[in-house]
Amino acid sequence: MSTSLRQDAPSPLPASPTYADVVAAAQRIEGVAHRTPVLTSRTADARTGGTLFFKAENLQRAGAFKFRGAYNAIARLPEDAKKRGVVAFSSGNHAQAIAYAGQLLDVPRVIIMPHDAPAMKVAATKAYGGEVVLFDRYKEDREAIGRQLSAERGLTLIPPYDHEDVIAGQGTAAKELIEEVGPLDMLLVCLGGGGLLAGCALAAKALSPECRVFGVEPEAGNDGQQSFRSGSIVRISVPTTIADGAQTTYLGSKTFPIIQALAEDIVTVSDAMLVDAMRFFVERMKIVVEPTGCLAAAAALNGIVPCRGKRVGVIISGGNVDPKALAGFLSA
Ligand SMILES: *Cc1c(COP(=O)(O)O)cnc(C)c1O
Repeated sequence: MSTSLRQDAPSPLPASPTYADVVAAAQRIEGVAHRTPVLTSRTADARTGGTLFFKAENLQRAGAFKFRGAYNAIARLPEDAKKRGVVAFSSGNHAQAIAYAGQLLDVPRVIIMPHDAPAMKVAATKAYGGEVVLFDRYKEDREAIGRQLSAERGLTLIPPYDHEDVIAGQGTAAKELIEEVGPLDMLLVCLGGGGLLAGCALAAKALSPECRVFGVEPEAGNDGQQSFRSGSIVRISVPTTIADGAQTTYLGSKTFPIIQALAEDIVTVSDAMLVDAMRFFVERMKIVVEPTGCLAAAAALNGIVPCRGKRVGVIISGGNVDPKALAGFLSA
């Protein structure tokens, strides 16, 4: 665990975004995004032997950290681009974050979603005033639909993770956490395309330089681990996992170099561990966390990253899980 399996020496950090961009993002989202609570649990500490600080982004606006990056990216647009609007592809938390952030900033927003996306997610996106364009994911190319919309209406595409302002926005979660609890020995971060991990690593290394930062992804989709350890981006096919927010198939070209330079390692957890963590959160901490939001916690609770004697930050990344699905996971 302590010896990284990375083959190459850490690559140099890209020129941007930097921690200064995270600070600027924090100013932009102040008073708009929730400063989410940091939770502790004696049971979690007893189980791991460490002192764990859970950053509860399941309680963020729209139910996940994605609001931070979405709001920062839209707020940064020039006025004329704001007037024309933004477009995003997503069936998940990024869609809701863009729809909600755009509503608050009075920016038109189009969300391109698969026609078979869960009705609840489509409804939530529409409730935030987003214009939903459905596409047939077996027959149509969403990139082409997005390009056409951008061309016709001059919309700006806001990607879910591979974007400097999105990365900087996500980093504000770790900034708040470390400012609140002080320096950490380790920080565990849920990993999909790497926006959250890259941003949080920038903040952690600036505020707590000794802090070792770990990404945690689903066992079935360990493209991040393969990429990190081989030194170049590895692409996989869509993994089968209950962590639907981490079914990404490759890290971003902007997130990967930051992760490569600043992270300690990337580890994986099984779906069974995610279910166990979801149950732990409900039973012990009285909070609802979606499967993807449990990735980092599952690594701590199962000793995948040993926490004994350490001060450990754990990002709980989101809480958007359908109540029926949650009940199904908990009764299985
Ligand atoms: C998007 C998402 C992730 C993964 O974030 P990346 O920035 O793509 O790595 C993790 N957890 C939740 C709840 C998410 O919505």
